[in-house]
Amino acid sequence: RDGVEPETVVKHADTALMRAKSQGPGTVRVFTEEMNESVVKTLTMHNRIRRALDAEEFLPFFQPQVDLSTGEIVGMEALARWISPELGMVSPVEFIPVAEEYGLIDPLCDQILYAACRINKSWQDAGLSAVPVAVNISGRQFQNSRRLLQTVEAVLSETGLDPCYLELELTESSAMRDPENAIAVVAQLRDRGIACSIDDFGTGYSSLSVLKRFPIQKLKIDRSFVSDVTTDANDAAIVKAILAMAHALRMKVVAEGVETTDHLEFLRDAACDQMQGYYFSRPLPAVDMEAMFRAGRRLTLPQRD
Ligand code: C2E
Ligand code: MG
Ligand code: MG
Repeated sequence: RDGVEPETVVKHADTALMRAKSQGPGTVRVFTEEMNESVVKTLTMHNRIRRALDAEEFLPFFQPQVDLSTGEIVGMEALARWISPELGMVSPVEFIPVAEEYGLIDPLCDQILYAACRINKSWQDAGLSAVPVAVNISGRQFQNSRRLLQTVEAVLSETGLDPCYLELELTESSAMRDPENAIAVVAQLRDRGIACSIDDFGTGYSSLSVLKRFPIQKLKIDRSFVSDVTTDANDAAIVKAILAMAHALRMKVVAEGVETTDHLEFLRDAACDQMQGYYFSRPLPAVDMEAMFRAGRRLTLPQRD
């Protein structure tokens, strides 16, 4: 069914094997035609990513996170950017899924993790504000927890960054895919002094019985709820419900994608702890983030009536 010539059958089996490997240990995949099409499409991207890794073309941008009661910068998220000589600046939405599929997510995220920690340490050494940097961890990295923990150890010892200035973000959907493993990894990280937060909260399917057992301190509300929070009563209700639940579980809440004064005021009235979004700043190259620290910039909170 999967080919007339023996070579074709073997090639297709190989394609299915690649797909299975990319999805983690113990996975079985049967070849489908769709795999073939997507293979051709992503192959070019894959080769480019491989070369870009050698050339170290991936680097973190930084987006500040601001405390909604004081207006101070209390953290920042490292967001991967690919500055490609051929393609220009490429968004992670395009290259992260391909890197995941082809088993390149580990070296790619290692580069981002290392650079984020090294740069954060250099800012602290220069006497600029000391805040944690949050690094995104893909679901695959969380599955291979031994490697993740070893990498984090190596990066901390090489850069000299104190673990309290590193935070890891895992998405709600990857946290819930294999919750027992995720809970164990988060607990090990916590014992090592590294906090974890749950990213894109509200877009996955959380089991509340699992959530209450997660040793995390922070939830990030996905920006899809924030964007219409002042116009869509359902989104407003969801955001308030997430805040009530998270606070009852003693977690802090960060709202993502805050773009307007209306968003900000809604979130402040609803007692949201922190915000991240274009309203205060887009993700910035390291030099611009550094300039922001040097200038001591903070959020001017609108006057309450
Ligand atoms: P995320 O972790 O939820 O990151 C937030 C995304 O929202 C970022 O998109 C950010 O640029 C964008 N954003 C922030 N504020 C606003 C706003 O006010 N309005 C709008 N419209 N968007 C805003 P970005 O940088 O394209 O990253 C997309 C996703 O790619 C991230 O979502 C994260 O899941 C993934 N990602 C980024 N860097 C890495 C990385 O180093 N490793 C891994 N594994 N994933 C990464
Ligand atoms: Mg994130
Ligand atoms: Mg997010």
